[in-house]
Amino acid sequence: MPLREADGMLAIAGVRTDALIETYGTPLLAIDLDLFGARVRTLLAACAEHDIEVSYAAKALCLIPLLRRAVQLGLDIDVCSIGELLTAERAGVAPQRLTMHGSGKSEAELRAAREGRVGTIVVDDVEELERLGRGPCAAAIVVRFNTGIEAHTHAMVRTGGDDTKFGIHPRDEGRVRALLRGSAELRFTGLHAHVGSQIADERAFVANAEALMELALPFAREGLTVRRAIVGGGFGIAMTPEASDEELDVPFALAAIARTVRDRARALGIDAPLVGIEPGRTLIAHAGTTLYRVRAIKRQATRTFVVVDGGLMENPRPALYGAVHRTEAAARATGKDAIDATLCGHSCENDELGPIRVPHDLAVGEPLAAYATGAYTYSMAGNYNRFPKPAVIGVEGGGHRLLARRETDEELLCCDAAD
Ligand SMILES: *Cc1c(COP(=O)(O)O)cnc(C)c1O
Repeated sequence: MPLREADGMLAIAGVRTDALIETYGTPLLAIDLDLFGARVRTLLAACAEHDIEVSYAAKALCLIPLLRRAVQLGLDIDVCSIGELLTAERAGVAPQRLTMHGSGKSEAELRAAREGRVGTIVVDDVEELERLGRGPCAAAIVVRFNTGIEAHTHAMVRTGGDDTKFGIHPRDEGRVRALLRGSAELRFTGLHAHVGSQIADERAFVANAEALMELALPFAREGLTVRRAIVGGGFGIAMTPEASDEELDVPFALAAIARTVRDRARALGIDAPLVGIEPGRTLIAHAGTTLYRVRAIKRQATRTFVVVDGGLMENPRPALYGAVHRTEAAARATGKDAIDATLCGHSCENDELGPIRVPHDLAVGEPLAAYATGAYTYSMAGNYNRFPKPAVIGVEGGGHRLLARRETDEELLCCDAAD
């Protein structure tokens, strides 16, 4: 979390938030690129010990300069749409470092794989594999299975349970193998399963790795060597310092996953595949702080509401998942005489952002800072009520610059027919 200066003002990567607000306005998503870099380096170092490949799930926060930085730091990139692919291409990411994901892929997305705009495509459906096999495909094939692992996380972000749309049901694995063997165009390289998001328990990843290795055996028997076993992302983070039980012990989990894959391969008598992970949130969430200004403070029947100049449109996570981002006054520490209030956005929905403790004399216009907003906020933002998307800045080494400028009001109209 950002630190406070001697006068109580929050600073992000050494830059005072009042200076950032003065320069860029609010709402503002500030990304601490020093922290992002540190998280990436720590993860890569832990992965290097086990030869684990790391691809950043771009959907968490997908901006040209951020993807460029991610690749410079040594990450590969996962994309799941043409828009994300174009972002990576504009960032200069080499195709070999890109993997195309997605459920219900469009013809354009499959064409991108055929043409080698990505090095790997993760096939999510039997019919998709059939379509790909009809012509030359430059991208390597990884097949995603739904391993049915129940991860203890919010149901809305569980993607590997039995009852979600993601991956191929194991009952269809025979068809997958027949298709792979039947097409000279399909260069099979491995298996994939992603069990969900915000998972703190490494046992979910271990169970997933075991399930993938069980699936690997019949493939190997038919000459379809599983060179890569990608166990997904979903590494949990602590949204507040008190919620440390929400944070996955990453080095411990990586060691457990690597050991599981190695031991299962030995027991099954097959070559151990290279393990791959694809984290998003754990790398970028903590680096993000959203700066708001208070628009209104309202004492209603039983609660006090603090209305800020952001909300549902720039951070749908509270509405979608019940996520709570700790939020505090940015210009001064919240003292003992603080009061309890409810933080709200200013859209025309009941867009409560969660409980907040604020100075009892909080004033309209004062800045607030919401923490851990780097992942799945801006990338999920919309234009409800025709509010423009906020600016995103990168802060590092005492300096700051735009990663994405604020959308203009005029841009909100640019897709409308004139009459
Ligand atoms: C979303 C997603 C990820 C990243 O999830 P995080 O919770 O951000 O780590 C990784 N792999 C796949 C297939 C995903 O859909």
